[in-house]
Amino acid sequence: MKDYLAGLNEPQREAVTHIDGPLMIIAGAGSGKTRVLTYRIAYLIEKGVDPFNILALTFTNKAAEEMRHRIEKVIGPEAKNLWMGTFHSVFSKILRFDGHKLGYTSNFTIYDTDDSKSLLRSIIKEMGLDDKAYKPNYVLNRISAAKNNLISWQMYNENPSFAAEDIAAQMPELGRIYKTYALRCFSANAMDFDDLLFNTNVLFRDHLDVLNKYQHKFRHVMVDEFQDTNISQYLITRKLAAVSQNICVVGDDAQSIYAFRGANIQNILNFKKDYPDLKVVKLEQNYRSTKNIVNAANSVIAKNKAQLEKNIFSDNEEGEKIEVIRAMSDNEEGRLIAHEIFEGRLRGLKNSDFAILYRTNAQSRAFEEALRKIDIPYRIIGGLSFYQRKEIKDILAYLRFTVNQQDEEAFKRIINTPKRGIGDTSVAKIIVLASEHQTSIWNIVSNIQFYMEGRTANAVAGFADLIKSYTVMMEEGKDAHTLAMHVAKTSGLLHELYMDKTVEGVARHENVQELLNSIRSFVDNDENEDKSLSSFLQTVSLLTTADEDDDGDAEKVTLMTIHGAKGLEFKHVFVVGLEENLFPSQMMLKSRDDLEEERRLFYVAITRAEKQLTLSYAQQRYTWGKLTYCEPSRFLEEIDSRYLRFGDKGIPQTFEPSFAPKKQATRPVVIGEPVKRASANALKPVQPPVQAHVPSADFEPSDTSKLKVGDKVEHQKFGFGEVKKLEAFSGSTKAHILFEREGEKTLLLSFAKLRIL
Ligand code: ATP
Ligand code: MG
Repeated sequence: MKDYLAGLNEPQREAVTHIDGPLMIIAGAGSGKTRVLTYRIAYLIEKGVDPFNILALTFTNKAAEEMRHRIEKVIGPEAKNLWMGTFHSVFSKILRFDGHKLGYTSNFTIYDTDDSKSLLRSIIKEMGLDDKAYKPNYVLNRISAAKNNLISWQMYNENPSFAAEDIAAQMPELGRIYKTYALRCFSANAMDFDDLLFNTNVLFRDHLDVLNKYQHKFRHVMVDEFQDTNISQYLITRKLAAVSQNICVVGDDAQSIYAFRGANIQNILNFKKDYPDLKVVKLEQNYRSTKNIVNAANSVIAKNKAQLEKNIFSDNEEGEKIEVIRAMSDNEEGRLIAHEIFEGRLRGLKNSDFAILYRTNAQSRAFEEALRKIDIPYRIIGGLSFYQRKEIKDILAYLRFTVNQQDEEAFKRIINTPKRGIGDTSVAKIIVLASEHQTSIWNIVSNIQFYMEGRTANAVAGFADLIKSYTVMMEEGKDAHTLAMHVAKTSGLLHELYMDKTVEGVARHENVQELLNSIRSFVDNDENEDKSLSSFLQTVSLLTTADEDDDGDAEKVTLMTIHGAKGLEFKHVFVVGLEENLFPSQMMLKSRDDLEEERRLFYVAITRAEKQLTLSYAQQRYTWGKLTYCEPSRFLEEIDSRYLRFGDKGIPQTFEPSFAPKKQATRPVVIGEPVKRASANALKPVQPPVQAHVPSADFEPSDTSKLKVGDKVEHQKFGFGEVKKLEAFSGSTKAHILFEREGEKTLLLSFAKLRIL
């Protein structure tokens, strides 16, 4: 038997070796779904299937790359020929080949969300509508929802029931906006993210020869994280597998967290109907996490009504209980967690073993500050990413326009950047001229002398010449780096940034250098066959949030949103900001379905942890510039308390966790006692309480800068002890203190609250 097959349990092996006909693996978190998918691909190839005939769809491009490397270890360099990636990246590649059948050139631009919103803003303005009534964000969500349900603008406008909801929301013009938006994207030779899937469906529907080609190419189709596919994605895979019937999907209904983007749990249920010969494999053993973590996760998800029956268990060690930290404020939350990571490292963990997961990107600030203060390196995934920065978008817009001169959004961005004296009115005039003459913006710009005169016309003509010189270079076959270097220098962008000697200006200049470096490494990378500018731009526009990770191998703590953490695992996970209205998010409290989705998100968060899980909340935090008092999240209460430990961090546990029922004021102070709860938990075994240190009445932390070896100290929680050793540690001091009751502890003086006796 092959080595890798030996590393699988019985149902996993069954799934790996079932290679003919439809297969669905429905399994719990950490039960080896991704592992099965990976080995199944290796197995298929060993059984003689050509890697060119295998298509695997993953949640991020990085996940695909990781899978490819694992497969490569088993079967060798052949793995390079596999088709793997996200739905968006795989099908944009197909649209580059065959999109001409729908009227796009192979150089079409991919509009990101900012481009889409900017275009909508223009359209709403041109139509004379009020952008307070028609918020571009909402309008874009509605258009996106329509596309993901395969409702074209024509269908939307013909069938009043589609528009009913929008009309009721006082937006009777949405149909007209959708139409204009779709036509404008088309004439800009641009697709937004949803179009990549929508147009693939249209391509397969209207061009059976194309569908047929891919049905024969992809003899085996596999989908990871199937619970998060939407209808549009599902139909694509179903069409592709219609001939071979070799489709394998893996997913976990309990981890479905993208309903707001149109993902549909119904896909899992429909799958059985669509494939009557379906083989279903259930995986129930979790290999990732300790028993405590798995049991806690089970106790949470059991609160959801909508779920498929599963019984997830772990044979791993019991592990430590889940620690709950209550902090005074968001800043203290950051500090306590940074300190805990610091202590974890003293016990031998690496920075990369830790992840801090939050509900929204804005929460990262407090953790960044705290980590920076004690020199712990970290990386943030998501947030305002590199590619969303203005200077980067400016350069990319030049490159986009060089490749595709119909790209209206790129045009708007660069026509007067750097300043050439072409005002907004002139730009608007050019756009109107193009639509009046039913021609492209480029046509107007490159023949501006027929439409305008004077200084502005000269400036526009200069711009057109500049772009023409770039396209000439491109047509000569210059690679992406050579072109990008040339564009950065001659467009004036680099010079403008160079002249700006403010801190921000210098940083922006460095960012552009960084972009140029990354284009260089794209060109130098042998795995990229096509080194053209167009190919580079495509790669960049399809990066998912989780892909934007500059140095993945680095020894750093990971900070990211829970949505981005899907499929990942870390030794010690901190799920932070567990407060009502933050997590669950205020926006998700409107209906039971929303709350259940939020609970699944919490389930995803806690099942990322292998050995240790820490949950934290703050009692007050700044939101939108206002100090608000927070209540602990209901999710904390939903975890069976026997798996919890109210930590020795944060507000000392001489206080009750505030989500526990209030107790008599005269109760003795105890550590480690499980929270007493109403009826449900009354029968559970109670652990013997440990007497805590009660700080002296006059406890007041001393200035520890004068602390010496041999000093007697009192610690707020650990009690009395003696300083054994002091050592400098990244700007602070580490103290080894032997406590009477707790034994030796290493504390960082910038955090420790000590009274020198
Ligand atoms: P998620 O639901 O989070 O996506 P998953 O079901 O895809 O999880 P994997 O990531 O494939 O799970 O596996 C979780 C961990 O368990 C990985 O570290 C994997 O290597 C390990 N694992 C899976 N199956 C086995 C096995 N049979 N023996 C040992 N380790 C295993
Ligand atoms: Mg997985």
